[in-house]
Amino acid sequence: MTVEPHPLKPYPAASEARPVYEIARVSKTYARNQLVALSDVHLTIHKGEFVSVIGSSGCGKSTLLKIMAGLMPPTTGRVVLEGKPVVGPRRDIGMMFQQATLLPWKTAIENVLLPIEIREGKAAARASHEKAMDLLRLVGLGDFANVYPGELSGGMAQRASICRMLVSDPAMLLLDEPFSALDELTRDFMNMELQRICMERHATAFLVTHSLAEAVILSDRILVMKARPGRIVEDVRIDLPRPRTLDMINTSRFGEIVAHIRDLLGREAYS
Ligand code: ADP
Ligand code: MG
Repeated sequence: MTVEPHPLKPYPAASEARPVYEIARVSKTYARNQLVALSDVHLTIHKGEFVSVIGSSGCGKSTLLKIMAGLMPPTTGRVVLEGKPVVGPRRDIGMMFQQATLLPWKTAIENVLLPIEIREGKAAARASHEKAMDLLRLVGLGDFANVYPGELSGGMAQRASICRMLVSDPAMLLLDEPFSALDELTRDFMNMELQRICMERHATAFLVTHSLAEAVILSDRILVMKARPGRIVEDVRIDLPRPRTLDMINTSRFGEIVAHIRDLLGREAYS
């Protein structure tokens, strides 16, 4: 297929939507080794936007995500989500990591309800049962609600952890290489599922990845990071139309974007 040079966006151009996350002058120096992991990061993410951060291993991506999640304080600067400073873990932030981290002694649906059970107790978890079922159906796991993680494939376990992330209706999804442990075909499929879920729910997302193709196919903007000190060197707008499809990978526009970002990253190897 061909890609129009100035395609229309399916939802309001994200830059015109209201800011959800505001990160200003954030830096992080790890006390233990005096390593400057982040230096002067500024970033605004708008409602409904899908933003990725890409960069070589060790450039500070996870550090940035942990600070955004409130799991770690920055050395300087501030992080504001929905008008309120992030000073610790919050209900309106949903997170997903490389490993699904499901509890093996709980069923899929019990794992999905776990964040509610931990925060609000068993009664609140029971009250959210139907909602958890709806989410499991949304990701194609409707028939697996009562199955234990040991009986789920890697892709299915990650889909259950998507449900667990979404169950508390977070304003913001923070994803740290969520599908990088999956085989390539499953990963492509999961990325398309993630796009569908984000579009259906008008979710705002921030994805850490080291796959350039994955970042381009999913994102409205890609932040290119470099190491020592970790910093954002460019904010690249991805003007491919939505919904994205895997065959866009073969378009000339996709190739141009990839080449541009590869150039920014230098001679490091990216796939
Ligand atoms: P990325 O996710 O891009 O691979 P990280 O944010 O994990 O990078 O790490 C950035 C840099 O900070 C790396 O050099 C890493 O070794 C260092 N680092 C990460 N966590 C810690 C820590 N807890 N203490 C000291 N140094 C750390
Ligand atoms: Mg990391």
